[in-house]
Amino acid sequence: MRLSQYFLPTLKETPSEAQIASHRLMLRAGMVRQASAGIYSWLPLGLRVMKKIEQIVREEQNATGAQEVLMPTIQSADLWRQSARYDGYGKEMLRITDRHDREMLYGPTNEEQITEIFSGSVRSYKDLPLNLYHIQWKFRDEVRPRFGVMRGREFLMKDAYSFDIDAEQGRKAYNKMFVAYLRTYARLGLKAIPMQADTGPIGGDLSHEFIILADTGESEVFCHQDFLNRDVLAEEFDEESDLQPVVDSWTSIYAATDEQHDPARFESEVPADKRVSARGIEVGHIFFFGDKYSKPLGASVSTPEGGDVAVQMGSYGIGVSRLVGGIIEASHDDKGIIWPDSVAPFKVGLINLRAGDVACEAACEEIYAKLEKAGVETLYDDRDDRAGAKFARMDLIGLPWQLIVGPRGLKNGVVELKSRRTEERDEISIDEALSRLSAGQA
Ligand code: ATP
Ligand code: MG
Repeated sequence: MRLSQYFLPTLKETPSEAQIASHRLMLRAGMVRQASAGIYSWLPLGLRVMKKIEQIVREEQNATGAQEVLMPTIQSADLWRQSARYDGYGKEMLRITDRHDREMLYGPTNEEQITEIFSGSVRSYKDLPLNLYHIQWKFRDEVRPRFGVMRGREFLMKDAYSFDIDAEQGRKAYNKMFVAYLRTYARLGLKAIPMQADTGPIGGDLSHEFIILADTGESEVFCHQDFLNRDVLAEEFDEESDLQPVVDSWTSIYAATDEQHDPARFESEVPADKRVSARGIEVGHIFFFGDKYSKPLGASVSTPEGGDVAVQMGSYGIGVSRLVGGIIEASHDDKGIIWPDSVAPFKVGLINLRAGDVACEAACEEIYAKLEKAGVETLYDDRDDRAGAKFARMDLIGLPWQLIVGPRGLKNGVVELKSRRTEERDEISIDEALSRLSAGQA
C-alpha cells in the first residue's frame, strides 16, 4: 500500500479525551474514530489489526472442532423472557421497538439465541458434542464507556457455545476452550493468565477470566510470577487426549482477581519474591453452566437409554475489539505502538527519505514491487515529507520493521533495516534486506 493513497488520518496532537495509552495511540494512529460515546468507526489501519486478531481467534476455535455461524445483532425480547433474563439484564440492554410494536433488543450476548437454534434442530445424543461460535458485534449500554475500544458500548466479541450430553463431556468441552484460549492469546503476543472468576449474570459454577497485566487495567489481580515465564505454544501435549492435567497445571498456581483474592492463601502458596500484584485487563471469559439455558429453552436430546435430557452447556467469550487496545497497552513506548508480528497491520514500513530523488525513487519502487510479490505486507511512504515526520509516523503506527532508503546509503549500495521493537539498525544491501524480510525473521 502506498501511503500517498492510504487513508491514514494520523494526529500530531494528543487528543485530550483519551486517558490511557491505547486510546490515545489508536486515535493518533488513525485507527478508529469515535462516532458517539463508546461507539467507534474502524478506519483502514485499525480494521486491518482487528481482522488479524479475528483470524487468529477463528483458527484456534476451528482447531478445537468448533464451527462458525453468524447470528444477528438484533434479537427478540420473547426469547429472553424464556430464560427470565429480559427483565434481569437491566439498563445495559439496549431495547428497541419495531414498527409493529414488537419488542426487540441489540444482543449483549447470545446464549438464548444459540440455544434456540440448537433446540430447533438437534434431537439426539448422536449429534453431540457440538460447539458453535460466531464473531459478531454486541451492544451493552455501559454506564461509563471509556478507554476507547476497551470499554465500548458497541464491541466485537467472539462467543462460542458448547453442547454436551453430560457434565463430564461438558467439562471436556470447557477444557478444550481453556487451552485454545491460552494458545490464542499467546499467538497474539500476550501473556494471558487464567483466573477463577465469578459467573455473574451468565450463571453456572465453573468459570475463568483471562487477564493480561497492564497498569491501566480495570481490575486488581494477584498471581504467581511463574505465569509470566510460561509459554503454552512451547508445551507439548496431545490435543485429542484428556486435557484435564494441562488445565490443572494452569489452575493450580495461584491467580485471582480482587473479588476472589484470598490474601492468606496468596501468602502461603506463593513465595514472597514470586508474588505479583498488578492491574489487569479482562480479554476473555469462559463459563460452564450446565442446564441453566437448555432447561428453560427446551434444548434436550434423546439419550442412548431412550430418555430425554437437557444438554449441558458452556459459553466462551473473547473481546476481539478490546484486544486491539489491550495489545497496545501491553506493547508500546513513548513514540507509539509496537505491534507483535502476528497482528501488525503491515510487516514493513518502506521509507523513501528523499521523494523526488531519481535513485531513491527507483530503488523504492523496485523494493516495493519485490516485497509485494513476495507477499510481504508493506506500507510504502512515498510522500514528499520531512524525514523526521516520516520516522515519527512510522514509529507511531508501530510496524515491526522499517526499511529506510536514503541517497547517502544508496551511494554505498545499502539501505537501513530497523526493528521497531529493539531499535536495532542494520545497514545492508537491498538484496539482503529483501531476503531477510521475505524469509520471515528479518
Ligand atoms: P467486564 O467485566 O470487563 O465488564 P464482562 O465480564 O461483562 O466484562 P463478558 O460477558 O465476560 O464481559 O464478555 C466476554 C468478553 O467481552 C470480556 O472478557 C471482554 O473481553 C469483552 N467485553 C465485555 N464488555 C466489553 C465492553 N464494554 N467493551 C469491549 N469489550 C468488552
Ligand atoms: Mg466477564
